[in-house]
Amino acid sequence: MSRAFAAGDKALVLDRKGRRYLFTLKDGGQFHTHTGFVSHEAIIGQPEGVQLRSTNGAWYQAVRPTLADFILKMPRGAQVIYPKDLGPILLLADIFPGAVVLEAGVGSGALSMTMLRAGARIVGYELRSDFAARAQANVASFLGPEAAERYRVEERDVYEGIDETGLDRVVLDLPEPWRVVKHAESALHPGGIFVAYVPSIMQVAQLREALAASAFSMAETQEVLLRTWHVEGNAVRPDHRMVGHTGFLTSARLVGPPTGA
Ligand code: SAH
Repeated sequence: MSRAFAAGDKALVLDRKGRRYLFTLKDGGQFHTHTGFVSHEAIIGQPEGVQLRSTNGAWYQAVRPTLADFILKMPRGAQVIYPKDLGPILLLADIFPGAVVLEAGVGSGALSMTMLRAGARIVGYELRSDFAARAQANVASFLGPEAAERYRVEERDVYEGIDETGLDRVVLDLPEPWRVVKHAESALHPGGIFVAYVPSIMQVAQLREALAASAFSMAETQEVLLRTWHVEGNAVRPDHRMVGHTGFLTSARLVGPPTGA
């Protein structure tokens, strides 16, 4: 469904060189660059793809930002998980509309937004009140009030326990996920899924040991390598630079210990 830009909508503006600027449209607002400015009025009421000229004649074009665009530009407290890993986490955790998810810590809310977008109901545990507030503001700002209602963040330490029971999923991005394994065992329903993102392989080893000694099984660890390409005329080749490392993804399912059949 295509809808004209309105005041309050977010716009992603591209320049000739492909640089991207993201802002919220306001009546009377102006988008300033080194080539003068474009008034928001030139975008409001127009469809996506509208072409613009700044006061100094530079060319711009406006579309709505995607979730990935917003995550890369949104205000951050903690480091975010990048789109490269967010997509795979959605399928590893098998997030579905109505899935009840415990997420800790929520940080800037990038992972929260991704799971909310897929329809999850999230209880977030976050140590820092400033991060909790930032994540909630980011969710409300990009996803709006309907998603914000499916998102509750509590200021607390998940290492001390999880109050919820019968959870569908436990999804973690914090330094010591092995300290959550016991809590997740009693908080998830049988068949529930545990997913943790950690940057270091030492953390993976410690987590896998804890999972192996628990009622979880089907444990798997993976990393996602993404290589973008330069495509220009006859120069069609991988980009010279790539992000070599972000984090490791570990998943497991609560199915009870083997009965020795
Ligand atoms: N996945 C988030 C980023 C999380 S950063 C995103 O994509 O935006 C890790 C967060 O975990 C930090 O905000 C930190 O404050 C929080 N944290 C660390 N230990 C915690 C604990 N024991 N309980 C709850 N939150 C914790």
